[in-house]
Amino acid sequence: MAPTADTIFARILRGEIPCDQVYADAQCLAFRDVAPQAPVHVLVIPREPIARLDEAQDEHAALLGHLLLVAARVARQEGLADFRTVINSGAEAGQTVFHLHVHVIGGRPLAWPPG
Ligand code: AMP
Repeated sequence: MAPTADTIFARILRGEIPCDQVYADAQCLAFRDVAPQAPVHVLVIPREPIARLDEAQDEHAALLGHLLLVAARVARQEGLADFRTVINSGAEAGQTVFHLHVHVIGGRPLAWPPG
């Protein structure tokens, strides 16, 4: 597993590269995806470098809940009545950045199941 300190999201958190921020607090940061898959596509990431969901521990329960609450808050802030949250865990599931993140996607009808 690639060390999370070297991911692009860690660099965003350190302020080394810019992002289009929509929300921030002591535990997480939310910013627009650079390659949006819908009119609204925001990523919510924890400041703590957890690589992927299945590496989260019991001690992260409150943080994981907070990320989902922030995802809903961001969706409201973006004017979305309906939206989808996605967490890809692992390469075969589509994860490309190994720093845990919640996708918040909306602003168009979304098909199911995803590819
Ligand atoms: P995943 O495929 O679930 O790991 O999602 C990673 C997401 O990060 C993709 O949707 C990328 O478009 C997005 N992404 C990669 N680099 C950046 C960046 N510098 N700023 C914003 N989003 C990014």
